Amino acid sequence: MLLLASAVWRIRDSQLNSFDVGHETELPTGGILSMPRIEIDEERCKGCELCTIPCPRSLVRMAEKFNQKGYRISEFVDPEGRCTGCAMCARMCPDVVIKVYR
Ligand code: SF4
Ligand code: SF4
Repeated sequence: MLLLASAVWRIRDSQLNSFDVGHETELPTGGILSMPRIEIDEERCKGCELCTIPCPRSLVRMAEKFNQKGYRISEFVDPEGRCTGCAMCARMCPDVVIKVYR
């Protein structure tokens, strides 16, 4: 059972979109600060709410709007830049519509 779970996890990981580099800000010192974030493909979201469960910082929630198919969509709310890019939300999404930048 453990092996099966591990295999499923690997397949899910391979389905994830690539972890692209997040917003990059050049610091006064010349260094680069990368800010992790996610993007949710709203038109592919089916409103299952699963992605709102695993975020350790509660940054994913259900929005007050609907997509063209009539599904209430999820949204990423992170005004303070607290996303760690851990990708737990993306791993949870059964439709692989969350892209992680970090
Ligand atoms: S990548 Fe991690 S911290 Fe960022 S929104 Fe998803 S679950 Fe939360
Ligand atoms: S898990 Fe995926 S399909 Fe479900 S609400 Fe979140 S983004 Fe939409």
